[in-house]
Amino acid sequence: MFLFEMALTLLRKVTTKALAFFKITPFVRRLRLVMADYYFPLKDEALIREYFMRQALEMGELALSIDEVPVGCVFVLDNKVIAKGMNDTNRSLSGHRHAEFAGIEAVLAKYPASVFKDVDLYVTVEPCIMCASALRQLGIRAVYFGCSNDRFGGCGGVLHVNLDAGIDRCYPAIGGIFREEAIMLLRRFYLQENDKAPNPTAKRNRILNTIVENMSIDNTRSYALLESELEANEGVDGLRVLSPATTVY
Ligand SMILES: [Zn+2]
Repeated sequence: MFLFEMALTLLRKVTTKALAFFKITPFVRRLRLVMADYYFPLKDEALIREYFMRQALEMGELALSIDEVPVGCVFVLDNKVIAKGMNDTNRSLSGHRHAEFAGIEAVLAKYPASVFKDVDLYVTVEPCIMCASALRQLGIRAVYFGCSNDRFGGCGGVLHVNLDAGIDRCYPAIGGIFREEAIMLLRRFYLQENDKAPNPTAKRNRILNTIVENMSIDNTRSYALLESELEANEGVDGLRVLSPATTVY
């Protein structure tokens, strides 16, 4: 029995090393994400978040392709995307047409506002103060975002609209999911904007900066809120487990 356990441990170690050596692990991860298109539920909470953030990034790419500030989002109910949004301020000439507002409108076209208590938002950039407040008033269940918004952020970047004392229920906002991809989308946009300017700045300034520094936002309070919600809702049928992901963003 002891020998059998030893052999099993050895086999596990060799397999893990072999997978890492041949760089198969990222491939398997990618494969699982692709498979998720055909097979749900994914068991891994971190994978679920990446799966939906990837779709938000696709919306950001779409925004970039039509010269909007590349921010994209998806609204998710019961592991299904029920609405998508992307920044629409340039086309509409309306400063409030952020990705979240476009998505909220699409949700409300199909569902009553009460649905938001079961809906999660995945957005490539931390919601601004205006959007963070709208989401709180609507009662969103949770927000997952890519990079922080150091100038206008409402979920920790500048203010904590999602967590501070107020009449409406607080919501957790976890940042850092595909953060680098979200930042690079924005940088590509500003680079291409500069190329179109009447007097573009010197060429050396037009090189895409690929260095991404550490995130300034601390997810601790949001994780604590997720955990307390999980405890409070323990045993409730049909509630998706809102556990902190094993991947800490
Ligand atoms: Zn906004």
